[in-house]
Amino acid sequence: MSELPGFLRARWGRRPEPLVAVEVGGPSVQTATLVDGSVVFVDGVARPETAYRYGLAAPGWVVDGRVRGAHHLGWMDVEAWEELGFPRRPEVSLNDAEAGALGEWLLRVGEPADLLYVVIGTGVGAVRVSAGDVIAVEFGHQVGFGPAVCGGCGRRGCLDAAIGGHALPTPLGAEDEERVRESLVRAIELTELRAGATVVFGGGLVRSHPRVVPELKDMQVERSLAPPEAKSAAHVGVLDLLLRSAS
Ligand SMILES: [Zn+2]
Repeated sequence: MSELPGFLRARWGRRPEPLVAVEVGGPSVQTATLVDGSVVFVDGVARPETAYRYGLAAPGWVVDGRVRGAHHLGWMDVEAWEELGFPRRPEVSLNDAEAGALGEWLLRVGEPADLLYVVIGTGVGAVRVSAGDVIAVEFGHQVGFGPAVCGGCGRRGCLDAAIGGHALPTPLGAEDEERVRESLVRAIELTELRAGATVVFGGGLVRSHPRVVPELKDMQVERSLAPPEAKSAAHVGVLDLLLRSAS
């Protein structure tokens, strides 16, 4: 169980019905349930026995609970809500990195003007939040990053094919970490962020190998503010959208 920061508790208030955020990604599924101002995390899918509303975050293109192009999961075109055993479509569904970016933005007091959330896990991606608006950026499938051919976009030199967790050796050596850092610096330069922007690094590889996080000139580099038991901050983004969609 994770206590919410005070400002989020104030923003969300107390609700009688549980709100459920399901995050699918990498090798696992996690359910976060908001009840009485606290969030309870459960590995796998957990459905409350009382009435509830729920949202879904998953890799790929996510619309109304349908997921397309999540090639790391083998979900090329799947009704994810059925796959997960829910009796109806989610009230809210979106890409996991978009949900994570929104969550990181919401978790920061003062909500930064410009935030880039970079996820390095099974795959590589980034999402920008500018003045509260979630903006998809071309990031994980930029080319110019070596000889590998991408299993997702099919292009040679794709960033995801070069430094996605699926493409990295185990164990990861110091030279590999250096290669990841350098690739990230170049990829972030190409996104043309404003000076002073906040860049948040999250994802499994960042947790297991914190040294892959680069230093960035003129940027505020930060770690995820998601609670340690959460897969990411995606549940915060999903829960906030659920509350906004109700009012
Ligand atoms: Zn690609």
